[in-house]
Amino acid sequence: MPKCKYCGMTFPHMTALTCGSCGRHPNGPHKGRHALYEGSDKAQYVCKYCGMKFPNMTVLCAQPCGKHPNGAHKGRHSPAL
Ligand SMILES: [Zn+2]
Ligand SMILES: [Zn+2]
Repeated sequence: MPKCKYCGMTFPHMTALTCGSCGRHPNGPHKGRHALYEGSDKAQYVCKYCGMKFPNMTVLCAQPCGKHPNGAHKGRHSPAL
């Protein structure tokens, strides 16, 4: 099932993903739409900035990242593909 790379939500189909506004969009809550996570389903998800591992994308996307490119804890973890 398609997942959003910003918030980790899963959607029943692509249309639902691309039509909805994302509460964790990088420009600000609901400042943009969900974006498709293009990686495969995994047992663990790894942050592409800091390498921390998470059991699912929702948890990964909810927490600030100590190595975010905008500055430490200025943004959230982002899933590696
Ligand atoms: Zn989203
Ligand atoms: Zn991180």
